[in-house]
Amino acid sequence: MSSFAIRRTLLAVVAATAACSALPAFASKDKPVIGFSIDDLRVERWARDRDYFIAAAKKLGAEVSVQSADGDSAKQANQIENLISQKVDAIVIVPKDGKALSPVIKEAKKAGIKVIAYDRLIASSDVDAYISFDNERVGEMQGAAILKAKPKGNYYVLGGSPDDNNAKLFKAGAMKVLEPAVKKGDIKILGTQDVKDWLPENALKIAENVLTQFQNKIDAFIAPNDGTAGGVIQALAAQKLAGKVPVSGQDAELAACKRVLAGTQTMTVYKSLNAIASNAAKLSVDLVKGNKVTFKAQKAEGGINQILLDPIALTKENMDILVKDNFYTKEQLGLK
Ligand code: BGC
Repeated sequence: MSSFAIRRTLLAVVAATAACSALPAFASKDKPVIGFSIDDLRVERWARDRDYFIAAAKKLGAEVSVQSADGDSAKQANQIENLISQKVDAIVIVPKDGKALSPVIKEAKKAGIKVIAYDRLIASSDVDAYISFDNERVGEMQGAAILKAKPKGNYYVLGGSPDDNNAKLFKAGAMKVLEPAVKKGDIKILGTQDVKDWLPENALKIAENVLTQFQNKIDAFIAPNDGTAGGVIQALAAQKLAGKVPVSGQDAELAACKRVLAGTQTMTVYKSLNAIASNAAKLSVDLVKGNKVTFKAQKAEGGINQILLDPIALTKENMDILVKDNFYTKEQLGLK
């Protein structure tokens, strides 16, 4: 079994355990019950989002029922239907495929349940609010860091899963930064490919194939997150190129932070999961109780009210931010 497969199996067990939490028979506005429907716990960050969210909701007197769809859109729709029939007060959704969830979100709305899109936009008018980071900015940070590391040369651009709205935003941000260098003739983009389901093994395969196709003459990779960066770096390592070819990422996964410190990954982007989870828990409770919520003046696509938090670009130089923010200990990162 590959290490990816083992990790996936372990996470599936964790997800199954988390999904078993029992709900109280009646939800009330004083003690709201929130359903948290998560696309896929195979990506490290979502388990932390879950834990921070549950802790924050508890402090606000709310209870949470977590459902993980294991990257399966139909399963996610079923789980949301289930939450509707349990009469929860709010459903917070990390959609696998926002478009595919439209019918079930309509049902939730009809049942008087508040619907919040978490991290990934669901462009449906039945969604009450969207909370995320400035995702185009994330892409800009990735593009800028790689351009700084490799101002001239051949680039290969990987995109995230095509059914995830964020993937579009990350790529748009990165391209915006790379475009002037392309026009000047400093860099050449050899090609772009999307990584289905965000899976590291899919990124590994793409990187292996393009390295072969271009006889290893790729000078830099834009990888949209740390999982996919891990796949790309594995392919580079097999060609003894790890550390020589800049690779971007995001999420500040522990393995990725270690790669950044070791020099095989150029950067990652830290998005405070505690901040998004706590804000989302508060947003859910406020919406259920009818409290006033302050949104960004500019609405998201589809006219949806949004809250956007700021991402932080991380390199070797400022990795200690993670320690200050209690995301990792010095020991975990191997920092002195
Ligand atoms: C999130 C990233 C994550 C990716 C894969 C995106 O929507 O914003 O943080 O790495 O999904 O799960």
